[in-house]
Amino acid sequence: MKIIKGKPVSSGIIIGKALLFNSHKEIVFKESIGEDAIQKEIDRFNNAVRRARAQLKKIYNNLQKTMGRDSALIIETQYLLLKEGNLANDIKHIITSEMVNTEWAIKEVEKKYAEIFSNIMDLSFKERINDISDVLSRLLKNLKAQKKDEAPVIENVILVADDIPPSTAANLMSSGKLLGLVLDYGGETGHTTILARTLEIPTILHTIDASRVIANDDLLIVDGLSGEVIVNPSKATIAKTIIKKEKFQVYQRQLNEVIKLPDLTKDKHPFTLLGNIELAFESDAVLAHGAKGIGLYRTEFLFLDPNIAFSQDQQYMIYKNVAKKIYPYPVVIRTFDVGRDKVYDSLQMDEAELNPALGIMAVRLFLRQKDMFKTQIKGILRANESGNIKLLFPMITEIEEIHTIKALVEEAKDELRRENKLPDRHIDFGIMIEIPGAVSLIKHLEHVVDFFSIGTNDLVQYSLAVDRNIDSVAYLYNPFHPGVVKILMEIREEISKIGKEVTVCGEMAGKPFTALMLLGMGYTNFSMTPLSIAEIKRVFTQVHYSYVKKTVKELSRLSSKTEIEEFLIETMLKKYPDLFIKQPLFQ
Ligand code: PEP
Ligand code: MG
Repeated sequence: MKIIKGKPVSSGIIIGKALLFNSHKEIVFKESIGEDAIQKEIDRFNNAVRRARAQLKKIYNNLQKTMGRDSALIIETQYLLLKEGNLANDIKHIITSEMVNTEWAIKEVEKKYAEIFSNIMDLSFKERINDISDVLSRLLKNLKAQKKDEAPVIENVILVADDIPPSTAANLMSSGKLLGLVLDYGGETGHTTILARTLEIPTILHTIDASRVIANDDLLIVDGLSGEVIVNPSKATIAKTIIKKEKFQVYQRQLNEVIKLPDLTKDKHPFTLLGNIELAFESDAVLAHGAKGIGLYRTEFLFLDPNIAFSQDQQYMIYKNVAKKIYPYPVVIRTFDVGRDKVYDSLQMDEAELNPALGIMAVRLFLRQKDMFKTQIKGILRANESGNIKLLFPMITEIEEIHTIKALVEEAKDELRRENKLPDRHIDFGIMIEIPGAVSLIKHLEHVVDFFSIGTNDLVQYSLAVDRNIDSVAYLYNPFHPGVVKILMEIREEISKIGKEVTVCGEMAGKPFTALMLLGMGYTNFSMTPLSIAEIKRVFTQVHYSYVKKTVKELSRLSSKTEIEEFLIETMLKKYPDLFIKQPLFQ
């Protein structure tokens, strides 16, 4: 018996046989070619592209049948990469200008994109390089004239690999016969992980050498709660695991029961829980977890491929499908929040900024690139056929910005109206409060905006001047800092005064302690990753709003984050001792 520790990213416990999958990175040699051989190389490349596209189409159709159109979007993105992107042109250019073999040109292009993506701080976007690598490695395989996909037959096994490209993962998972996943690398916000979570396949990442230590047919326990992979466990360990698994299933059943409860605290105070999504297909998970709509659709995900600009028609279809699925609940679509740590080639930032977090980003960028902005706004406006879409604008700094954006929205509406493409539906106009200085605008916005959304991730970051991606200062990033508590109280008060709706959509909304603190401040709408919804609902339905409110009122006399956090937890546990069970249940 051997225990390998990793990072659990999709919970659940599974016992099954291992299947080793080698996504082996191809080794490629450089070959110089003569001028007369260039056309032959280009033909080889074109043939490989044709074959790759046919394979992707097949995977797409299978996925669409088994998991729906939205889930197939990942493959569509890769298909488009081959169809419309600069990828093919880049490769052909290298073949011709450097007079090298196709394989070498592909590797060169992969290197170029890896460099571009390595400069992106945001992990979720950094990992999008996997899609590009995935497509390129498919091309390499096709160049080797391998006719069939290298995916092994999956029949109730736990897949162990160094990493899995997203298209292969989608293909394997859609069979519905994959029990679990163990990856030596892989990113927490990558596509493979997102798919595993959505399909609730127990998954452990960062196991470092699991794919070398584990052999085919080894018996494995994948514990998606503790992050342990137990190789060839003893009988006693198996027996203990079965008991733990049963307890987890009871807990999940309890959470499923919780989902059915009315959205009311013990003293009948209402609250609304919504889901955050980045990918259209996640709207399934939003509904499955009992959310009452999408509180934040982060559309910047469409910049997955720096070479593709989604057309108005394409965006319209994507947004419309999400809105239809979620109807009659609302879908808040946020316009592209790019810039600062999320820099994309296709956006042509004018100059490298010394301090991008304080530079051109989000609406600031789009007010400089109005065509792209208007294309998105039009796509959203057109998609509002059922009237359940709301428009949200991120990183608002000053009132002039809001006026400019509103004028642009009106312009977009006029143009659509003239083309007969504007649905006769009202659309709410909302802004994000995530820059501390913007809090003072709220009282002037009664007749300017319809709703507010609080981005606590950025609000904390900008209030405390801490980039939480920088390890050395991460200890300062804390939502219980008295300054953060004060500003959140002030925002709630200011918005109440003008009688507008407000939703909190940062990480704070999806964590039991911080969500309780927000509830006590008077916030009632919370948007979070779908997986957190049942747990937050379990906590909220067990407390009395009046007690939470009284507790939170006390926080303003405390001077440190530690005092605030401890006071909040202790006071809650005094009245509700079982409020924060969770992991101990499964030990
Ligand atoms: C936030 O800042 O809290 C937020 C929800 O936006 P994002 O995390 O996408 O910046
Ligand atoms: Mg933000």
